[in-house]
Amino acid sequence: MPVLKKVLIIGGGFVGLNAAKGLGNVKGVDVTLIDRNNYHLFQPLLYQVAMAALSSAEIAVPLRSLLSRYKNIRILQGEALSLDPEKKSVTTDIGRFDYDILIIACGSRHTYFGNEKWEPHAPGLKTLEQATEIRRRVLSAFERAEAEADADKMTRHLTFVVVGGGPTGVEIAGALGELSRFTLAKDFKAIDPTLSRVILIEAGPRILPSFSKKLSQKAARDLEKLGVEIWTSRRVTDITPSSIELGEERILASTVIWAAGVQASGIEMPDQIQTGPQKKIVVEKDLSLKTHPDIFVAGDQAHFSDDSGIPLPGLAPVAQQQGEFLARLIKREIKGKPRESFHYKNRGQLATIGRSRAILDFGWIKCSGFIAWLLWAVIHIYFIIGFQNRMVVMLRWASSYLSFRKGARLVVNKTWRFYGKGNQLSENPDSRSLKPEIEGGSP
Ligand SMILES: Cc1cc2nc3c(=O)[nH]c(=O)nc-3n(C[C@H](O)[C@H](O)[C@H](O)COP(=O)(O)OP(=O)(O)OC[C@H]3O[C@@H](n4cnc5c(N)ncnc54)[C@H](O)[C@@H]3O)c2cc1C
Repeated sequence: MPVLKKVLIIGGGFVGLNAAKGLGNVKGVDVTLIDRNNYHLFQPLLYQVAMAALSSAEIAVPLRSLLSRYKNIRILQGEALSLDPEKKSVTTDIGRFDYDILIIACGSRHTYFGNEKWEPHAPGLKTLEQATEIRRRVLSAFERAEAEADADKMTRHLTFVVVGGGPTGVEIAGALGELSRFTLAKDFKAIDPTLSRVILIEAGPRILPSFSKKLSQKAARDLEKLGVEIWTSRRVTDITPSSIELGEERILASTVIWAAGVQASGIEMPDQIQTGPQKKIVVEKDLSLKTHPDIFVAGDQAHFSDDSGIPLPGLAPVAQQQGEFLARLIKREIKGKPRESFHYKNRGQLATIGRSRAILDFGWIKCSGFIAWLLWAVIHIYFIIGFQNRMVVMLRWASSYLSFRKGARLVVNKTWRFYGKGNQLSENPDSRSLKPEIEGGSP
């Protein structure tokens, strides 16, 4: 009888899910997967939840249902807090867990480059809570503008600023342009949503720096057609609840969205564990730690350099391939086979602009416009987890393409109310500590 290997996976994102699937029903392996959420989130479509095109349940699936067919996998909802490599254990808010092999894949989070006080005024987009909060702010801004008599305040409500010209910032700005120019155009009486300003701010000389100059220029033109103003080579110096400053310049805006900087998420680790840029953990060619070969770190949380010495980007295919690689490595090791190195198969990159345009760079083919968008849509539908979600998302996109309507335009309040004594409606005293409510399905 082989000795049972205890594999502990922290994080049920692209790495964790694929590693767990690869180890599912494998003899001699006992897997525990711990995630702070009970679902796997398809982050590439998070901006569509923030921009009211999709509902939360369409891009997130309970981990339990995804892995229910594997008898050797235990799933727990909990937050990993610290790691003790000497005792081979991880402390979480639901207890301490021992391991023989540990996979850490907690992903990444936003950084405000030392200005963390900006976060409440300019939320980032990494989680479902943040997506629903951004949606609440955007839709509420139009609602407030409709009720506003003062012209300056109305203009402030109708000014939206997105900070960061990478793929996420471009996707948000494009969707905002479309929301104001088309989706909401006829929904209001006092205001004209088409007069809204959407400003995309980028510190570098051009948006989408990871794409070729030509594709980046094409994306900029497509954004401008949707009414987006692109401000390059500009640095944010301050953000308040009602404005954003770029040196001497001040823009009055009720809604600012942060898509500028990321750093590795993490748990408390001993000092000897080496970190690189963006606080990512430096890993060896087999994704293990130099000091602890029984600990692997992968995905957005890892700093892995390919053969040419260039660090791999924080992309879903990188995380997915690393998760699959780790499952294979563990299975080989159980059979006494030596470890191999991880090699990333780069299949290219995509970014979408609005409802029907995208840019695509697969190395051997580069294209833009509607064809690129169709490919983007097919690839995303293929990779969304769950048959039902694929069908629903496909129908939603088809309907939104034909009608310009967006399905999830509900403002879900940050605070919730309850009927207290005497059936009086009052604000829940604990509501400030609550996460925004997440709707369960399509409205
Ligand atoms: C808005 C947005 C758009 C994107 N668009 C694209 C795109 O178009 N194409 C593309 O290739 N990539 C895209 N990405 C990047 C891609 O989603 C990430 O590279 C990928 O999700 C990384 O996978 P991961 O497994 O490393 O981390 P994640 O998928 O982030 O998973 C990390 C998991 O760890 C859990 N976790 C975190 N901390 C703890 C803790 N302490 N304890 C327990 N659990 C914890 C989290 O809940 C999460 O489930 C996008 C990302 C974002 C945010």
